[in-house]
Amino acid sequence: MSIFINRILKKLLVIFLIFVVITFLFTFIDLYSFRYTKQDIKIPEDKLHDYTGLIHIHTKYSDGSGTPEEIAKIAHNLGIDFILISDHNTIQSLTEGKEGYSNNVLVMIGNEISSEIGHYLVYSPSLDFKYSDFSNLLSRFKENKLQDFYAVFCHPFLPKTPIKDWNYYGFDALEIFNGDSQWRDDSFFEIFEVLVGSIIYKNPLNKLVDRPEKDIKKWCELFKSRKIFQIGSVDAHSNIKIFPNFAIKFPGYDATLRFVKTHIITEERLSGFIKEDKYIIFDCLKKGKCYTELGNFSDPSGFMFRGISNYDTVYSGEEIKGKTTFSIVVPDTTDIIIKLYNNDEIVCSSENYKLEYTTAKLGEYWVEVIQVRKGLPFFQKNEISWIISNPIFLLKN
Ligand SMILES: [Zn+2]
Ligand SMILES: [Zn+2]
Repeated sequence: MSIFINRILKKLLVIFLIFVVITFLFTFIDLYSFRYTKQDIKIPEDKLHDYTGLIHIHTKYSDGSGTPEEIAKIAHNLGIDFILISDHNTIQSLTEGKEGYSNNVLVMIGNEISSEIGHYLVYSPSLDFKYSDFSNLLSRFKENKLQDFYAVFCHPFLPKTPIKDWNYYGFDALEIFNGDSQWRDDSFFEIFEVLVGSIIYKNPLNKLVDRPEKDIKKWCELFKSRKIFQIGSVDAHSNIKIFPNFAIKFPGYDATLRFVKTHIITEERLSGFIKEDKYIIFDCLKKGKCYTELGNFSDPSGFMFRGISNYDTVYSGEEIKGKTTFSIVVPDTTDIIIKLYNNDEIVCSSENYKLEYTTAKLGEYWVEVIQVRKGLPFFQKNEISWIISNPIFLLKN
C-alpha cells in the first residue's frame, strides 16, 4: 500500500515540476518578447526622420571588451544608426582615427571623465575635438552651455560615484537611465531570472527595466530652473572581472546594445558624411529633440509628441505660448498606456495609441509610454516604462 502511495506521490511531483517549468517559460515570453504592431497606425506626416542611437559605450580602449568596429557591426545588425563611444578618461580611439562610418553606423567618440563632482560624458559636434583642452573643462561648464561641447551628468545616483554637485548649468543632459546600473539594485532572484532568461530568450535584460524614479524626479526638479534634457545610456562594457586577470564578456554587447536607446527626431536626413551628420545629431541632442527607448519591447520609431496652438506646431525641446493641444501618437496598439506629465504630475493618460489634451496651464510637458507585460508571479501584469520624451515648454503669452 505504502509503495503504491509513494509512486503516486512521485508522479504528482513530476507533474507539478513540469507545470512549474512550463509556467516559467511561458510567462516570460511576454516580458522578453519583441512585439511587431505597426501595420494599421497612421503616423502624422510631419516629414520628420527618426534615427536610433546608443550613447555611452566602453571599448577595449578602457574597460570594455570590444573594438569600435566590432561594436559598430553589432549595432548595425540591431538597426542602429549612430553610436557614441566614451571610454574612461581617454580619447585614444579618436586620435587613432576610429571615428566615422563603420558598417553603416556613424561611430562618434567622446570621453567619460572622472571628476570631483562625479562622472560626466563629453562629446563634441566638432571634428577638432581631439585638440580640446580637457584640463579645465569642468569649470567651463559652470555657468553656460558651450557650443562646441555636449556634456552629460552620468549615473547620478550610483552609490560609488554619484553626482555630488548639480550647480553646473552648462550641462546639456542628464542620464536618467543607465543600463549598467540596472542590475546593481536588483535582488538575487531577479538576476537569476535574467541569467536563465539569457539562455532561452533574445531580450533577457528587459527583466531589468525599472522605472528610474529618483532620476526622473531629479530631472523634473532641474528643468524648472534650466533647460536640461534627458537621455538613456547603455554604459556597455561587456566585461565583468571575476579575478584580477580573468574577465567574462557578460552581458555581451549583443544583449546590452538592445536595452536602452536614444532616438533623435530631425527634419534633415543623415547624409552619410561625418561632418554634416555629427552636427545634425548633436543639434538634436543639445536641443532636446530626442527621446529615450527602454528595453526592446517594440519599435517606437515614429513616436510623435507635438504641441499645437493657433499659431504654431512644436516638438520636444521647443517652446509654445497660449492655449495648446498636446498630441501624442505611438506606433503600438497592444497593451500600452500613454501618460502626459506637467513637470512631475500626470495630467492625462490614455490606453489607446493616441492622446490629445488641450490646456493653457504653464509648465514643462513630457510623455511616458508604458508597456503592459505579463510576468511572474501568477501572470501578473507589469507596467514597464518604454518611451520617455523630452519636454515641450508652455510659456506665458
Ligand atoms: Zn561612469
Ligand atoms: Zn561608463
